Amino acid sequence: MADVQLKLLLRNKDISTVNSSDGTSRSLGKTEKPNRLKEKVNGVTKPLRKSLNDSLEADVRDFLVNEAELHTYDDLTKVNPVTPATVLKCLQARYSAKVFYTHAGCTLVALNPFQPIPHLYSLDVMREYHSAPQPQEFKPHIFIVAEEAYRNVQGQVEPMNQSLVVSGESGAGKTWTSRCLMKYYATVASSSQRCQDTAEKIERRVLDSNPLMEAFGNACTLRNNNSSRFGKYIQLQLNSSQLLVGASVQTYLLEKTRVAFQAPNERNFHIFYQVQDETTCISEDSLPETVEAMMNLGIDEGRQTQIFKILAALLQLGNVDFILASEEAQPCDLHEQSKGFLQNTADLLQVSVEELQSSLSVRTLRAGKQELVKPCSQSECGVRRDCLAKAVYARMSAENTSWCNFIGLLDVYGFECFLLNSLEQLCINYANEKLQQHFVAHYLKAQQEEYVAEGLQWSFIQYQDNQRCLDLIESSPCSIFSLLNEECRLNRAWDAQKFCVRLQKDLSENPKISWDRFSSEPHFIVAHYAGSVSYQIQGMMDKNQDPVPPELIRLLRNSHDSLLHSLFADAEQESEGARGHSKALTVVSKFKNSLESLMKILYSTTPHYTRCIKPNPDCRPLTFRQEEVIAQLEACGIVETINISAAGFPVRIPYGSFLQRYGLIGGERREKKPEAIEQTVLGSAVEMIPSFVPEDLRHMVHCGRTKVFLTHCLLEKLEEQRNRVR
Ligand code: ADP
Ligand code: MG
Repeated sequence: MADVQLKLLLRNKDISTVNSSDGTSRSLGKTEKPNRLKEKVNGVTKPLRKSLNDSLEADVRDFLVNEAELHTYDDLTKVNPVTPATVLKCLQARYSAKVFYTHAGCTLVALNPFQPIPHLYSLDVMREYHSAPQPQEFKPHIFIVAEEAYRNVQGQVEPMNQSLVVSGESGAGKTWTSRCLMKYYATVASSSQRCQDTAEKIERRVLDSNPLMEAFGNACTLRNNNSSRFGKYIQLQLNSSQLLVGASVQTYLLEKTRVAFQAPNERNFHIFYQVQDETTCISEDSLPETVEAMMNLGIDEGRQTQIFKILAALLQLGNVDFILASEEAQPCDLHEQSKGFLQNTADLLQVSVEELQSSLSVRTLRAGKQELVKPCSQSECGVRRDCLAKAVYARMSAENTSWCNFIGLLDVYGFECFLLNSLEQLCINYANEKLQQHFVAHYLKAQQEEYVAEGLQWSFIQYQDNQRCLDLIESSPCSIFSLLNEECRLNRAWDAQKFCVRLQKDLSENPKISWDRFSSEPHFIVAHYAGSVSYQIQGMMDKNQDPVPPELIRLLRNSHDSLLHSLFADAEQESEGARGHSKALTVVSKFKNSLESLMKILYSTTPHYTRCIKPNPDCRPLTFRQEEVIAQLEACGIVETINISAAGFPVRIPYGSFLQRYGLIGGERREKKPEAIEQTVLGSAVEMIPSFVPEDLRHMVHCGRTKVFLTHCLLEKLEEQRNRVR
């Protein structure tokens, strides 16, 4: 890293532009974000990026004189100085040069080309990266990440499980990236297999899990025809000979509301159209392919039939409508056309039609030892019907198996900020907040290791971690989640305005929450690491309440279908908890639990991050829009990491090179050869270096075992002095 920075300095020999016209020097090491004015759109604080260009030009003009070479920077942390603006400029230069992958320290940034790039992912390229002694020395590529994880998983000392975290907004290329990774492992982890037959079978197994998951978890949305509506964690299991022996999928945070409700111009999960033999948005994923994928994954015909019957049951169930009962205090009746649909549903689910009808329309209440039945209102019947569909679908599409030795692939949806944000966005952004914390912890650890190796104290690095924001959202006893849950437990009439007042009373000590004085809607604003988001309170309580009524659980447990029966065998307890006002039943509590189990896995593995970036909102090939990209760099935490790195001592220069360049300032002889300097230095460097640095700037330099660590600001000052001395 230091070498490259120094090369850059040497190339840009005449850095006189560092001095501004009035003779005072500008800080190049500044970590400020591009000038951002704030604009309020319906209560949402949105950064305005008008002045980005100005600040960008200034940064680049001052230091990176040689713009023609910007695209050659393979690692964003080596751009000098590292600021959001220079990083953006570098990415843009690379994109124009059709270079789509760039490292950003321990992260890989992948820009979506939105057009096929010939040969970039060919078998030959895979083999090249796979057989290279040092793949890191090759051009940045997703295969470097893949190969690194592959080598790590069978670590020399002990095997270490690996996680590949792929994030980005809808359409950024996450699924594409996951596919590339799977193809890679299917290829490299089977090529040495003795029995070619088995190799092929496994290869298909890995690749086939994708269409299957996409059929069940993806849908056509306004932003992406094939949008994944859940987080998925794919575990690729390797045996001791590094061969792929299986794969499992864990799903998280499935957007199951979609089963019962779709926004205008959006669709249900693909699989529902496949079983109806309708064309889905994406022609390639048709039913025969899904069936073949199931076969390859070892889902036998009997099980397939069970799955399709359940799907068909959900489709039938969707047509069931209730009408008001003819007599008061009686359960709602079925709409005339609904009777056949209900019968079909019962047949397919293998439950009694009477029990199905009553569990949808009658609630059983327990008072002491007595059981009371109470008819549900018409709308409650509808809610129960949707609840049944969601519960069955969610259970069926989540298969959980775990293995000891694996490479895990996490494909998660990224930070969301719309004009109107509700509980779904709060959950998604909370998940991203957690992932960001994990990412920063990992990043800092890597930094820390270099410091320790150089014999430096780590404690002088100051950074802001996002714990306060997480506390605000999830901590007990007092957080947004806990207050929401309490509201649900009390089960009283929901008053959004009152809830807002409650939040203000109980949480306003946390600096991460605020309110827009001019908004009339009950809301709260959370300052996330990726930006501020205003959440609408109206409707949150309903969304948070998601208990599956015990009558429905009982119904499914009594099914004669073995799959359904087993899916709900352990559900009784959870449902009983609903009566006992168990905390575990709200949407946010479930989300939190699910996320916690995911985080546990992540923390037990070595992570590799890939951040997919969508360079323009219209999916146009090779089109780079700066505002789009910088917003995503912020949302995925790249800007934050850059800031953290700039808060430390990001410039590292080996002693020899340092003295060669700055020796002059301290009175050293310029003609001294680096090797000679190295000799003299080893003993005396630590005493010598301070003589180059003015007293008041000494806190900006630290001497390691082999390198000098400095801030950008000090680097600039040294350059300035050097120019003066020469
Ligand atoms: P996400 O899963 O993040 O929502 P996708 O992976 O579905 O996004 O990508 C959206 C589209 O972008 C893909 O259908 C594909 O056409 C294109 N795309 C993504 N990555 C690449 C790539 N590396 N090369 C070519 N096209 C890509
Ligand atoms: Mg996707």
